[in-house]
Amino acid sequence: MIRCGIILHPAGHTLSPVLHAEAYAALDLDARYEVFDIQAADLEPSLQRLRSKGLRQLSVSLPHKETVLALATKVSDQAKQIGAANTLTFIDDEIVADNTDWIGVLRTLEPLGPWAGKNATILGAGGAARAVAYALTRLSLNVTIVNRTPERAAEVAHDLGVQVGELRSNCDLLINATSVGMQPDIHDVPCDVAILQPSCVVFDSVYRPLETALLRNAREHGCRVQDGLDMLVHQAVEQVRIWSGRTPEAKRLRRAAEDAL
Ligand code: NAP
Repeated sequence: MIRCGIILHPAGHTLSPVLHAEAYAALDLDARYEVFDIQAADLEPSLQRLRSKGLRQLSVSLPHKETVLALATKVSDQAKQIGAANTLTFIDDEIVADNTDWIGVLRTLEPLGPWAGKNATILGAGGAARAVAYALTRLSLNVTIVNRTPERAAEVAHDLGVQVGELRSNCDLLINATSVGMQPDIHDVPCDVAILQPSCVVFDSVYRPLETALLRNAREHGCRVQDGLDMLVHQAVEQVRIWSGRTPEAKRLRRAAEDAL
């Protein structure tokens, strides 16, 4: 049996075990996915311990996505540029770090395009915003970052070759990559949608709740909306592909996640 899991803190209610169990069932893989609550200060010894216990594949969530890069012996170009990893694979003596969050964004947005040359605004400047910015530059959008702490926005802009600015009416794609609107603060919104044209697509990376206050406001304003669950599903699909060489059906994983939510 292949042993996999997720490292995070606090453990909370992650959907990753549901997504991976569904993927392994769909592909008839003999694998078990476990949750490991690991505090930031314990990351290095914990990785060694998990490896010696036979773990081979790990998803990485908050607060480890950035710090784990320093412990990896190989880092993919994408993870390097984004500055964060959400996927670790132990291969012989190597610890290989990769990032599939950006693929989650790409796969979510591709069907809603075409996007080349259009204007995107990202709210937020954390790990999620970095993965979003990377995906949007791959889709050739003009990307502007807006963040509560301007210094962090400037860092993302510098590292990922995008610009800092503000939300304007010429925005074609608005992405919330902050945690604003997440349970339990479900009435909070990261911005006022009144400035947007109804042709703007609004994508919220938050998926608890599935329809955030931002998405509800945007829908009522006439905008097309996209929830954060497809991003989560597609990053998991890509992890399974990296680890097993096989691709589970995203729709099946989404149904399982919706049932769990
Ligand atoms: P993070 O590194 O902690 O960044 C949080 C971001 O939210 C920062 O830009 C922060 O601004 C901003 N923020 C937090 N509270 C705010 C407030 N009250 N007002 C304005 N801005 C606020 O977290 P992350 O890893 O980037 O994750 C952010 C969110 O993305 C998560 O909460 C999650 O919902 C979502 N996410 C979704 C997926 C998915 O697959 N759908 C994957 C990863 C993350 P400052 O810089 O000013 O602190």
